[in-house]
Amino acid sequence: MTENGLKGKVFDIQKYSIHDGMGVRTIVFLKGCPLRCRWCANPESQLDTKEMLVSRPKCVSCGVCEQICSKGAMTVDANGVTRVSENCDFCGECVKACRGRGLRIAGDEYTVDQLMEEVLKDEIFYISTGGGLTVSGGEPLSQYEFLKELLNRAQMRGINTAIETCGVAPEEHFADILNYVDWLLMDLKHMDDAKHKEWTGGSNKVILKNWETAAKNKKQIICRIPVIPGFNDTEEEIADIARFVSSIGINEIHILQYHNLGESKYLALGRDYPLSGVKQPPNERMDELKACAEKHIEKVQIGG
Ligand code: SF4
Ligand code: SF4
Repeated sequence: MTENGLKGKVFDIQKYSIHDGMGVRTIVFLKGCPLRCRWCANPESQLDTKEMLVSRPKCVSCGVCEQICSKGAMTVDANGVTRVSENCDFCGECVKACRGRGLRIAGDEYTVDQLMEEVLKDEIFYISTGGGLTVSGGEPLSQYEFLKELLNRAQMRGINTAIETCGVAPEEHFADILNYVDWLLMDLKHMDDAKHKEWTGGSNKVILKNWETAAKNKKQIICRIPVIPGFNDTEEEIADIARFVSSIGINEIHILQYHNLGESKYLALGRDYPLSGVKQPPNERMDELKACAEKHIEKVQIGG
């Protein structure tokens, strides 16, 4: 194996996943994303820097982290809320000392070799199920060089590769990465650019261009639509997306039901949850939207 010194920032590795691609998969989550979707369930994925999460349910306000931190970065305030300051250098001493496992650092650095070592532990399952490696985020293309090397190494080993992408990336990077991807799981959130900008913080123009590039590349592609109340949960909005992807030759859509499971992570990062109080769309509504998409696309499923 070669080691070229590239390092990637990873905020999670999930094993034995049966979602996010075919068969049993290892999902590697890379840090950094150009969008700020209001519903994002992984807010610790957004910045490309390391972050500390303080779990409110697990923290018992014991103050051990405050005592152990030699940089004075931890404080437990009068209300028992534990906070981390900019002085934190992520040495990890407090994480080890916290008995309640209330602290987590997101953004550990890995070399490609180190990640491949993790991925290869489950090679037997990939072979028997047609699974493999899925790289997610964040937006995995925001660590383009590292992503390319990781996917390349997996493919050279004969491991099936997939990425989950929001589609925001320089067009040349996006086109290049397609060479290393067997399955592309790509979001399309809204066809209206103004609404896309309002709810995600970014334009859909480059996303639509990259969709066309992906479709021409003839990879196995699934279009994923997170269904968000107030943003894109009307028949018209779902039909607009379905018509577009159908027009460029895509034949599979997964519609993903909004959930607020990421809300506790916003608290853990000391941030407000942008969609506080928004309810999950009822199953019946998801069925209606699925039926709507099926008028334009051959294969539609709820979840993915
Ligand atoms: S984060 Fe852990 S060590 Fe720090 S106050 Fe909470 S429980 Fe104690
Ligand atoms: S990771 Fe290290 S520097 Fe950061 S708060 Fe914990 S002990 Fe302090």
